[in-house]
Amino acid sequence: MNAISYAALLEAQQSVIEKIALGNDLPSCLDFICRRIESIIDSPLVRSSIMILHGDTLSHAAAPSLPDSYCSAVDGLSIGPGMGSCGTAAYTGDQIIVSDIAQDPLWKDFRDLAMGHGLHACWSTPIRASDDTVIGSFGIYYLTPKLPDPFHLELIDRFSRLSSLAIETDRARQREAQLSHRLAQAKGKLEAFIEVMPDIALIIDEAGVCVDIYGADTHLLVKSPSEMKGHTMQSLLPAEHAECFMKVVKTALSSPGVQLHEYTLTVQGGLRVFEARVVRLEGYLEEKPEAPHVLWLARDITARKRADEQIEQLAFYDPLTSLPNRRLLKDRLQSALDRAGRHHEYSALLFLDLDGFKRINDALGHAVGDQLLCAVVTRLKSLLREADTLSRLGGDEFIILPDLSDRDAGEVADEVASLASKILRAFDETFQLEGNMYHIGVSIGISLIDDAHRTADRIIQHADTAMYQAKKLGGSCMVFFEPELQTAADERIQLERELGSGIANGQFQAYFQPQFNLTGSHIGAEALIRWQHPTRGLVLPDEFIPFAVQSDFIHKLHTLMLKQVCEVLVQLERLHVLPAGFTIAVNICPRQFRDHRLQDELAKTLEIYGVPPAQIKLEITESLMVDALQDAADQLSRLRAMGCKVSLDDFGTGYSSLSYLQHFPLDELKIDKSFVHAMHGGVGGTAIVDAVIALANQFGFSVIAEGVESVEQVQLLNQKPINGLQGFQTCRPLPADAFIATVVKGNEHKATLL
Ligand code: C2E
Ligand code: CA
Ligand code: CA
Repeated sequence: MNAISYAALLEAQQSVIEKIALGNDLPSCLDFICRRIESIIDSPLVRSSIMILHGDTLSHAAAPSLPDSYCSAVDGLSIGPGMGSCGTAAYTGDQIIVSDIAQDPLWKDFRDLAMGHGLHACWSTPIRASDDTVIGSFGIYYLTPKLPDPFHLELIDRFSRLSSLAIETDRARQREAQLSHRLAQAKGKLEAFIEVMPDIALIIDEAGVCVDIYGADTHLLVKSPSEMKGHTMQSLLPAEHAECFMKVVKTALSSPGVQLHEYTLTVQGGLRVFEARVVRLEGYLEEKPEAPHVLWLARDITARKRADEQIEQLAFYDPLTSLPNRRLLKDRLQSALDRAGRHHEYSALLFLDLDGFKRINDALGHAVGDQLLCAVVTRLKSLLREADTLSRLGGDEFIILPDLSDRDAGEVADEVASLASKILRAFDETFQLEGNMYHIGVSIGISLIDDAHRTADRIIQHADTAMYQAKKLGGSCMVFFEPELQTAADERIQLERELGSGIANGQFQAYFQPQFNLTGSHIGAEALIRWQHPTRGLVLPDEFIPFAVQSDFIHKLHTLMLKQVCEVLVQLERLHVLPAGFTIAVNICPRQFRDHRLQDELAKTLEIYGVPPAQIKLEITESLMVDALQDAADQLSRLRAMGCKVSLDDFGTGYSSLSYLQHFPLDELKIDKSFVHAMHGGVGGTAIVDAVIALANQFGFSVIAEGVESVEQVQLLNQKPINGLQGFQTCRPLPADAFIATVVKGNEHKATLL
């Protein structure tokens, strides 16, 4: 190799490297390599070619002076033994020098192709990557048969290496481009994520400096991101928060895992609750990878907190009055019991039930009922201290757990009694709702808590029992629990439970107490319910009607009574013994009277049995008229329009105002038995009976006397203008069969009456 050629080689080598380094694309670099080697060899007979190996095939990459037709013919050439110089070199990894294509067996299959393009010699060298694998082949063709000289071999060696450099550089560039593309994609995803995440992310360094802020909800920050970045959290947060904040940062820096932290902060939008997840970050700053940071991911959980509070409110507080409910009360009561047990302390529980609330609620509707309950709560609260617990069990039942500590049993009893009388006095005053005045009483049961052996449930039950006793005494009073009361209450509860099964098992029966006119003829009867209990025997209505009224059982009882009454009427009709104007009276309690089902059901049942409505008399009491006078009058008019008769039972015992009689469409007044019994007491004794009769005459109602027990009473009544009488003296209530028999034998009976 002469010096000039060597210098040219060096210059060419340098310019190729430069071209590669400047980032020219691969085809132009390889093209340049081919041109440079051809120009150094400086012969019109030389042609160079570079092919790149893809799997098992070589594809054409550069050959600026070879004919296109030849290049495309060899493009996609499979490598293997006997695949020309290039295919063989790439396959074996050895340099293949073919000096005469015409003679060489390696060219057997391509000889015509090569020679057809004037190519007679071909020296091929595998292009190797830095890891020595073959990535292509470098070829020098000659237009005449020829062997390479040492300079040629040196050139081929250098230029095949340059080709390798170009290919590898290009591949590295492609990998890099792919990588940065993926990186850009990942970054895009991350940015989208940060954009939508409901969190704010702060990057804080060891000293508390806010290095970066991510997240869109910047209104949750104490200041704008630009005002925060580069400043310490200590300077941005109020002192007490900053201290707490830095404590969490320090913990996160020194311990592995995520630190959870909840805090409340006043941010631009107001007071908010945050939940932070804090974790240590390594190498956050490229320029200072050794400096530790924390990622402080804060989420606004104000709404969730509020919802939690609401759930708590719903679970433990009554929605109408916001008072603690039964659950919370029991919790507090249990604590009071525990305390009482530990310190031998005494306490007490007051069970309150409003008197007559149901009446107002049923008559005036729940909206008024609710208002009244709230007014009651306000009044009760005004009598209690902060530490006392007032809770609503539901309906019109309340419990007061007064805060009584450091007192002996006697003091507790005194204090609680004085609280109860304060409450009773407070209820003397009427409640005013929307311009109307309502008077409502309260019955109070008190149970003293004196040891820890009782359960919360039992204490409440005791107070309930005492309250029930207060109701029995007429309401608007207080009763302290006594153990004997409990036995009665337990029995009551048992009876209540048995009501349902009694109905299902047909244990209820209508008895009939005949009513006679003054000549002793049957004019009708009153149907009275009896419970034939399997173990208790005959149970009278006063014992179970009140519970039946509290539940829906009264409705079922009423239905079965009505059916039995109809059956009796049908039988009397069949026996042709039904006197004209004969009626059977059915007792309707106020709750039943207000039930919208009453009228329809009555009409339906009467129709099924074919009983004329005029044979049914509904016995109602004055109590249903006190409120909603108009509603009651309307209901009465409807029932009478159907043809039913209406009798006012227990007349004179209830409400003093008689003015309602004017508005009431009635058929009959029933003189209460207490007035009948009072007739014995001389002249004055008959005064009330006379007054009732006069009143009835005035309004055009007929009159019937009940509870007639003696011959004297019969005689006295006989002298008065009344329409009928009913009582033990004339006949006791009878089962259906016996009653029918009595009516059949009506005439005989009449004889004994007179
Ligand atoms: P009430 O409507 O005043 O019924 C009259 C009560 O007086 C009946 O008591 C009856 O047996 C009783 N009695 C009859 N004659 C005499 C007598 O000469 N002297 C005395 N001292 N009492 C007499 P009973 O059957 O125990 O019923 C009590 C109350 O139960 C009834 O009083 C009525 O308010 C209610 N009741 C009875 N059956 C039903 C019913 O089917 N439905 C509803 N809602 N209440 C009913
Ligand atoms: Ca009655
Ligand atoms: Ca009565």
